[in-house]
This record gives sequence, C-alpha cells and structure tokens, in this order.
Amino acid sequence: MMQTDLSSALSLALVIDDSHTQRLLAREVLEQLGLFVEEAENGAAGLEAFKRLQPDIVLMDVLMPEMDGFSACAALRKLPHGQHTPVLMLTALNDTDSIAHAYDVGATDFIVKPFNGLILSHRVRYMLRASQAAAALRNSEASLARAQHIARLGNWQRDIPANTVGISDEAHRTLDLPAEIFNGTYEDFRKTVHPEDKDRLEQLVQAALAEHQPYCTDYRIVLPDNSQRIIQEQAEITCGADGTPVQVIGTVQDITDRKRTEEQLRTLAHYDGLTNLPNRRLFQDRLDQALRVGRRQQKVLAVLLLNIDRLKRVNDTFGHTGGDLILQSVSERLLTCVRQSDSVARRDEEAGAVTVSRLGGDEFTILLTNIDSPQAPAKVARRVLAALTPPFFINDQEMFLTGSIGISLSPSDGNDANSLLKNAGTAMGHAKKQGLNTYQFYAQDMNATAMQRLALENNLRKALGRNEFALHYQPQVDIRRWEIVGVEALIRWHHPDLGMVPPAQFIPLAEEAGLIASIGEWALRTACTQHKTWLAAGLPPIRMAVNLSSLQFDQPDLCGTITQILRNTAIPPRHLDLELTEGVIMRNAASTIKTLQQLKQLGITLSIDDFGTGYSSLSYLKRFPLDTLKIDRAFIRDVTSNPDDAAITTAIIAMARSLNLRVLAEGVETESQMTFLREQGCDELQGYLVSKPLPAEELVQLLRVLPPCPIQGGVAASLSNERKP
Ligand code: C2E
Ligand code: MG
Ligand code: MG
Repeated sequence: MMQTDLSSALSLALVIDDSHTQRLLAREVLEQLGLFVEEAENGAAGLEAFKRLQPDIVLMDVLMPEMDGFSACAALRKLPHGQHTPVLMLTALNDTDSIAHAYDVGATDFIVKPFNGLILSHRVRYMLRASQAAAALRNSEASLARAQHIARLGNWQRDIPANTVGISDEAHRTLDLPAEIFNGTYEDFRKTVHPEDKDRLEQLVQAALAEHQPYCTDYRIVLPDNSQRIIQEQAEITCGADGTPVQVIGTVQDITDRKRTEEQLRTLAHYDGLTNLPNRRLFQDRLDQALRVGRRQQKVLAVLLLNIDRLKRVNDTFGHTGGDLILQSVSERLLTCVRQSDSVARRDEEAGAVTVSRLGGDEFTILLTNIDSPQAPAKVARRVLAALTPPFFINDQEMFLTGSIGISLSPSDGNDANSLLKNAGTAMGHAKKQGLNTYQFYAQDMNATAMQRLALENNLRKALGRNEFALHYQPQVDIRRWEIVGVEALIRWHHPDLGMVPPAQFIPLAEEAGLIASIGEWALRTACTQHKTWLAAGLPPIRMAVNLSSLQFDQPDLCGTITQILRNTAIPPRHLDLELTEGVIMRNAASTIKTLQQLKQLGITLSIDDFGTGYSSLSYLKRFPLDTLKIDRAFIRDVTSNPDDAAITTAIIAMARSLNLRVLAEGVETESQMTFLREQGCDELQGYLVSKPLPAEELVQLLRVLPPCPIQGGVAASLSNERKP
C-alpha cells in the first residue's frame, strides 16, 4: 500500500464516470492513497453529490450521458464551494482540443484514459497538496484582511516610474477613495488629503525619496460630508539597481479614534471633571510657565486662593449633588467675574491671560500675570467676593455663601509654584480668621495698604459730591524782576477723618478708579474761576498753571472740555498754562504732537513738568509746541552741594534757552539755590523760598505785596522796589 501523507489523510475524492469499471479502477488507486471515495455515474448526479459531500478532489470523465464532463465542470465551478476544488479530467481523447476545452471550463489538470495507476496516484497527491497550500494561503490572506480591517489598516504600493498606486480594499475604505475617483495614479491616491496638509505631506514624501528613508506621518482627510479623519501613513522606499527609488510600499491607518481617546485622556488628566476648569496639575504647569516668563520680563504675578466658606454645611443639608451644583455655579461666577476683571489686571496688550482653576474640594485659584500693582489682585479679590454674594439656588431653595481669599505675589512671596500656593494658603487662613468673606495678602504690610487704599477709594468717590477738594496756589516768580508772574494750582483733599491727604497719594488712586476725569475737570474749572475773581478784584493778570493727568490727556474730548471751561469762565486763554509730565508727552510722541498743537491753537500755553526725571528725546522736544520747562525739584534740592545736580541743572537751562523755552526751577527753598539759578540764567522759580502753596485768600496778600527779594544788592532787589502795589 502506498504511504499516505498529510495532504491525502481524511480527504474525500469524488469519482464521476459512467463506466463502472473505470470507477472501480480509480477507487482502488485513491483508496491506496488513503482517500475516502464516493462515486457518481454522470455529470448531473456528480453535481448533486458534489453539493452534498463537498469533496476535496474530483475525478471527472469527459464523455458521459445526460451531462458531459465539460458542462459538469463548468457548473461545478459556479457552486459555492466549487471554485477552488481541484478537478482532474479523465479523458480518452488524447487531443489538444479536448485538453484546451477542459482548461477552459475550469479543470485543474487532465489524465488520459486508460490511466496508469502510479501516475494517477502521484497526480492526485500533488493536486491535493497544491490545493491545500492554496487554501492555507487564501486563509491567511483572509485573516490578514480581517486583521487589517479591524485595525483600519490599509496597504498600498506606489510604482514610481509608472506613476501608479495599487491599494488594498481596506486602504480604499480608509482613505475614502471609491472607484469613481481612484484611477490608480499617485495624484488620485492623494485626492482626499486635507488641502492644508497636502504640501507638508508632499514635502515629507519628497524628502524621504531623496534620502531613501522610511517615514511615518499623520494627516487629515476630508470625507464627502466634510467631516475629517486622521490618517497615519508609514512607508518604505525600495531602490532599483541604479540606486534610484522605484517603489514605495506603505500602510495607511485611520487613527481618528485613537487621537480622540488621547485627547480625552489629556482632558481627564488636566481638567476637573465637575467644573471643566483646569485642575491642580494644569494650574501648576501654567504657574510654572508664568513664573518663567515673569522672571525673564521682571513682571509681578499674583496667586489668589479662594476657599468657599462652610461648604460642608451645603453637603450636609443637600448631599454631595447639592455641593456639586454649588461648585459648578461658583466656577461659572468666577469665570464671568475674572473676564470682567481682566482689564484690571492688565492695561497693556502683552499681559498674560487670567487662569481660573479648581484645586480640588472647595478650593479655587486665580492666576494673574503681569500685574502693575498689588491693587490689581486686591480688586479681583473684591470682585470675586462680590460675585459670590447673590444667592445660590438648589432645588429652588436659596443658599448664601461667602469665600475667603489668600493672595501671594511673586517674586516677593515666592519664586516657585509650591511656595506661592503655600503662602496663598496661609494668607487664606488669615482671611478665615478675620471673619470670612474677606481677602488677605500673605505679606502683612500689604493688607494694611490694601485696606487703606480701599477705604480711601470709597471716600474718594464721594469727595467731589461732598465738596472736600480745594485748590491751593503756589506763586511762580520771575527771578530777575522779582515779580509773581504766575501761580500753580495744586489740589488738596480734606478727608473727613484723615485730614489733609496729599495729591501724590490720591491722584494715582483717582486715575485707577476712573475718577480723574471729573476731578481734573473740577480743578481746571475752579482754577479758571479763581483767576477770573482775581482779575475782577483788580489784581495784576498772571498765568494760571494747572496740572493735567496722563489719563486726562488721553481723553478724546480734552480740547472740547477746555474750550468750554475757557468760555464759561471768560478767562483769556493765554493766561491758562497746562502742566504735562515728560512721561505723558513721550509715551506716544506722534499722537502727542497733534493733541499739543490743538491745545496751542486754543491760545493756552504748555509746560513740561518735573523735567529731567523722564526720558525726553531732544529731537522730539524741539518739535513739541512747548512754552516752559520746569526743572524737577530732585535736581534743585542739592544743586549747590552736588556737582552732578549742578551740571544737570546748568545743562537743562542751556538747552531750554537754545530751544527758546522759558525755564522754571521747582522746589527752590534757599537763597543759595536761587543765586545759583539766577547766575545760570534760569527765568523763574517756584518754591518755599517764596511761598508754600496757599489757599486763595492767603495768596491774594502775596499778589498785592510780594516780600522783597532775599538777595541783597541784586538786580532783582532793585527791581522789586519798582513793583506796583
Ligand atoms: P507738581 O506739579 O510737580 O507740583 C509741585 C509739588 O512740589 C507740589 O506738591 C508742591 O507743594 C511741592 N513743592 C513746591 N515747592 C516746594 C518746595 O520748595 N519744597 C518742597 N519740598 N516741595 C515743594 P503737591 O502739592 O503735594 O503736589 C504733588 C503733585 O501732585 C504735583 O506735582 C502734581 O503732579 C500733582 N497734582 C497736584 N494737583 C494736581 C491736580 O489738580 N491735577 C493733577 N492731575 N495732578 C495734581
Ligand atoms: Mg505741576
Ligand atoms: Mg513738578
């Protein structure tokens, strides 16, 4: 008996032949091979048997009654399992036509009758083995395709010389390239790539081809409904014998879902699930980053730590769902109020954003970057507390909540996230001890300042209405003629409790609180009215100098306001002098010139105040329509003892003269200062040597009789005697 092998073990052979003898002969050979054998006596019966038995191999006679072997073979190939089963035709006709016909109808091979047993045996064995190998290959291809389908992984091959691309079914699906738009060219292959990604992808491919390097990249494709998917493409380059790339083999995989999951994971890791605010981790990242930027730009930043007072009470009464609802509302209110406060924290564009985060539990943080004063975080803290004041509702039930806020500043309270948070926490503890619903700075002295400023700001709002402001006037004297040529109006605030508050303290506050426009307008109007009263009383006409805040200078209707005041008080415009600081003028030189020219056209004069402390550029100074330069008191104070100050003062006077500007020295307190200034050619002086700023009634005395010039025998002294009473 012939040795069986794996390929024929347990296999079933179907012999279809009308000759009983032939069937017996075949059976004998096949059974020796270890095959099970079934028989059928014509084509039709054979087909029936095939459907029923699904044999592994078919031996088919060609000439049979009812249905011949050719027709039976053709029909068999159309059956569900008939496509791949090996069919061996048994033909008595040893002519090429029959053989060709047999192949045409799908026969796998043929053998001529009467057959030699040994040859039949070998041929059947070979056919079974080949069929099984093919089946295994088909199987593995199918599982590969299934695996690729599951992984949404398609493969493709690009033939560079032919400019063609062959793509797998899965690649068709992945790239959404239906037959209508894909004709096999490389251009077709890229048809669905997102227009914004096309150039980058092409550059990458070109670079890979040039360097013969594999590549891996992600790009977007656009589907017909305009939705997008993310594709990951990997490829390798094959080069020809001459070393130029001839083929690219690659895969495409739809990684949209993976990307989405990554995004979700990132969100989970960085955001608080309840409020969607950044969580502690992201907050620390942002704080670290802000600290790095802050250090580089030498900017101050603030960390506000808010704790909701007695949230436990809410949880006890309404359960944790109630507490959750409250925390969500708190986060919404925080975001709204920080958005409004944003402009408080930053005046200039480069200022960083404000970050609100939930640290966990009942704790929130607000990060303010690039702040210009400790008032900014204090203001935000007050707004946050105010935002928490309106009632919260849980199931229609009203709930009142308060918060306590601790504030730490960098660099003064710490240079790293941990110490800033820790110190804000300590400050928050102080706020709780203060009796809730309040804020505290970590640095204790800051609290006092903040509280003072707050009280002051509240009073300042009411000061105009309560008539608490007054103007004092300080004479400006012509050094040579020893004659009062002008007065500077200086504002005074008589605070009901604090007494006299100096302008250096409340003017910046008024600017910050948006009150400077009305206060400034009041000062202008009052000064002009006073001037008119003096004129009416028969006093000599003098210059009335009024200080202008930088914020007033920026007001679009400044000229209109001044025109109106001049008209209402009927003072000659040439008697009004506006004092501007260097900072105001140099800030935006181009637009300043325009405003200054408009002011000049009204007929008023302009002085530059506190000169020497700013950063005036000489070339601009030349172009500004100015009248007077006021040398800052800082240079006058030690002008007789400090050679530097003397040199600067001398230089300023010389420069003013060359620019045809009048020059006035501020803060002149001593005779020696005056002598020095007079010798250098300074035109005017203002200072305690002549008089402190005085209330209008007292100044009148000076206007009538100025005490004699303290310098004996000077020009001024002789001239002063000629002064009219
Ligand atoms: P400023 O315009 O440079 O005014 C001169 C300041 O020097 C005044 O201070 C004045 O009292 C002081 N002073 C004058 N002579 C002497 C002196 O011999 N020795 C010393 N030690 N000080 C002298 P004051 O009145 O406290 O005003 C301070 C600043 O407040 C002013 O500086 C001005 O910038 C601002 N200011 C005053 N009134 C107004 C106003 O109505 N509007 C605006 N926007 N700012 C004002
Ligand atoms: Mg001034
Ligand atoms: Mg000044």
